[in-house]
Amino acid sequence: MNFFTHREFDHHEQVIFCHDQATGLKAIIAIHNTHRGPSLGGCRMYPYTSDEEALNDVLRLSKGMTYKSAITNLPLGGGKSVIIGDPRRDKTPELMRAMGTAVERLGGRYIVAEDSGTSVADMLLMGAITQHVSGIAEKCDAEGNCRSGDPSPMTARGTFVGIQAAVNHRLGRTDLEGIRVAIQGVGNVGHHLAKQLHDAGAKLFVSDINHTAVDQMVSELGATAVANEAIYDQEVDVFAPCALGAIINDQTIPRLRASIVAGAANNQLAEKRHGEALAKKGILYAPDYVINAGGVIDVCYERSNVAQDQIIKQVDAIGETLHEIFTRAEAQHKPTYELADQIAEERFAG
Ligand code: NAD
Repeated sequence: MNFFTHREFDHHEQVIFCHDQATGLKAIIAIHNTHRGPSLGGCRMYPYTSDEEALNDVLRLSKGMTYKSAITNLPLGGGKSVIIGDPRRDKTPELMRAMGTAVERLGGRYIVAEDSGTSVADMLLMGAITQHVSGIAEKCDAEGNCRSGDPSPMTARGTFVGIQAAVNHRLGRTDLEGIRVAIQGVGNVGHHLAKQLHDAGAKLFVSDINHTAVDQMVSELGATAVANEAIYDQEVDVFAPCALGAIINDQTIPRLRASIVAGAANNQLAEKRHGEALAKKGILYAPDYVINAGGVIDVCYERSNVAQDQIIKQVDAIGETLHEIFTRAEAQHKPTYELADQIAEERFAG
């Protein structure tokens, strides 16, 4: 396996292969860039079929975190970690503690948080070993409503304001009354987003491989259930991917009838050229790492004493950032993803 010439290597500062014989831990921590501050990113546990697949994933994801933190002006760099294993079969408290030890050895250059395959409970186990863990504090608002470190509600809030900004830019509307939104995936983020859109008067079309989740949206919010594959063909204003990556590709772009793509899923473009294809088709794309940054903002400030209303203010500023990206992209005749990358790179260049 080539490393320094790996197509995803892209100037990573440090990549650590972690092994613990007693627990069977096999993990990779990738630190892409720390110019703005310590790297922060989730720990994904997944049954990768090869070491190469795991390396590819962690490098791609950690670089994405650098861009996400920079575009949101957070005092953080980008990093990510992966544990090779099936979370349902291989996860043990000992394994999580061993991962905590691996994080601790980096002395704070990498701050771990939850990701797919890991949970707040896993972060608490790591937190017994290292202080360099985020996404575990209980947060309470002024009314005394408390929630765990789960960043999904803030991710949904940021996605909601991002959709508002996109609708304003493309459709000239300042409200969402009657705006039709197709949501792919109503899990942690998607269902919070659906509720906010519904409250704002939007008309929802939802798909999910989990039929119970769809049924809940139909009964609670009057959403229209859509078959999984049919979600791309909906006659809507906004397509909001909130499930999988790489769903904007050669097969789906010709089918899209929405004039806006704005959702929380990571890595929505299968390849960068698909961002250009969207622009050519006249579809406004809200770059994924900008619109879904609410969670990382939340997790970042959990480690300081920043008040909840300040955090919300910064999450809501995602709308302004997107407005700037949309406006500059139009003026420079560039696709929005390229403009977002350009702004982020200006902010993390050291
Ligand atoms: P989740 O696992 O809770 O929800 C994803 C939902 O998508 C699930 O309900 C799942 O059944 C559904 N799904 C899977 N495959 C599908 C398919 N082919 N068609 C339709 N539905 C499908 O995850 P989440 O935390 O809600 O995150 C959603 C997306 O947002 C992911 O891409 C994630 O990386 C991204 N994201 C999440 C956060 C966060 O704070 N949770 C932050 C940034 C980005």
